[in-house]
Amino acid sequence: MPAEPGAAATPRFGGGHIRLTSHRGAVGTPTIRWGAPTAAERGPVIGTTATRAHRNVIGTHSGSYSVYRALAVAAGALKREHRADLTDTSPTDTIGPYPQWSEPATIVSMDPWGASVADVFAAELAAGLDIRPTIAITKAHVILPEITDAIAKGRLVPDGRILLASGAALVTKAAVEPVWWLPGVAQRFGCAENDLRRVLFEETGGMYPELVTRSDLEVFLPPIGGQTVYIFGSATDLADPSVELTARVHDECNGSDVFGSDICTCRPYLTHAIEECIRCAQNGGVGLVAYSRKEGRALGEVTKFLVYNARKRQVGGDTADQYFARTECVAGVQDMRFQELMPDVLHWFGIRKIHRLVSMSNMKYDAITSSGIDVGQRVNIPDELVPPDARVEIDAKMAAGYFTPGPAPDAEQLKKVKGRGLSQ
Ligand SMILES: [Zn+2]
Repeated sequence: MPAEPGAAATPRFGGGHIRLTSHRGAVGTPTIRWGAPTAAERGPVIGTTATRAHRNVIGTHSGSYSVYRALAVAAGALKREHRADLTDTSPTDTIGPYPQWSEPATIVSMDPWGASVADVFAAELAAGLDIRPTIAITKAHVILPEITDAIAKGRLVPDGRILLASGAALVTKAAVEPVWWLPGVAQRFGCAENDLRRVLFEETGGMYPELVTRSDLEVFLPPIGGQTVYIFGSATDLADPSVELTARVHDECNGSDVFGSDICTCRPYLTHAIEECIRCAQNGGVGLVAYSRKEGRALGEVTKFLVYNARKRQVGGDTADQYFARTECVAGVQDMRFQELMPDVLHWFGIRKIHRLVSMSNMKYDAITSSGIDVGQRVNIPDELVPPDARVEIDAKMAAGYFTPGPAPDAEQLKKVKGRGLSQ
């Protein structure tokens, strides 16, 4: 079969013809009415690659892992037409629906119905549509040495309900894949939808032609990392503003979070927040940690390590007054996390008020409050939890206007705050 004019000239794997992405879906393909009040009116998100006529989105499922799925198909390890058997996979906790799910443009970067597709789109699934969950919710025990230490020091007391004597904390956790409603995402960033589509197309090396050829498709499943949310206490309490909520929105830092690298405060902040969340849940409240895969301020770990070297090799060594400048030299910007989309997951849980926000970031605070969620107290990391080499980061952030209950260091002080050299 010859290719249609204008179609990409890449041959289909295992065959001589092209799998077109630029023609309209078949008659009867469900359309998506983003923000509609019920699942039936909203319609399912269909990102299957097996039956292309059923697709009503750009991109496909699993975020960045969609590329591994392609590798598995290419290697012959996975059949393209494999359908997920969703038996017994339903969420352990029911979330929503909440009013925010259908408030205009309150949620634009995830599918609020993504956890319950097997239930709310049962008829469509039975009719043969390949609809997949973009959210999964389960239960777990989490065991962290910092929490065991907090028990040993008497800061936390096991209650057999939220925190066990073994040191394990009981959590509900939700994994969330990105689902972008492009008109709403463009609006958040103050740009025209057409410009957003064109730049997404160009900056991914032309990966998704439908961004520019299919303006009728408004939903994009981007190939980026998702989020995981950990809840201490009852998930349904999150939507009740009278129940005290302690929350942290944390951006991934593999070096510190997992490996304990001491150049930043990421893991100490995370474990401090978890301790606060456990305490809040034990006192009748609820705790939430939303963890976003945005490594190295979403600049990626290669950029991050380049910046570490540049910081530590510059004349005068790694000083707090040059902290942001070095990042900007390498990456062109200080930060690419753009917290504008972050509050969506909070609205998915129906959150209206965060009583205690464990964060010093003004960008996070501003994004949360300007999305309509009240924030009571802001809780920063206790000084004794800041590793010595991370003083550079913390002081630079405080001087830049990040939240601190005490005085921020001045320019002279910043020059004196110095981290280790590379050989130390
Ligand atoms: Zn870090």
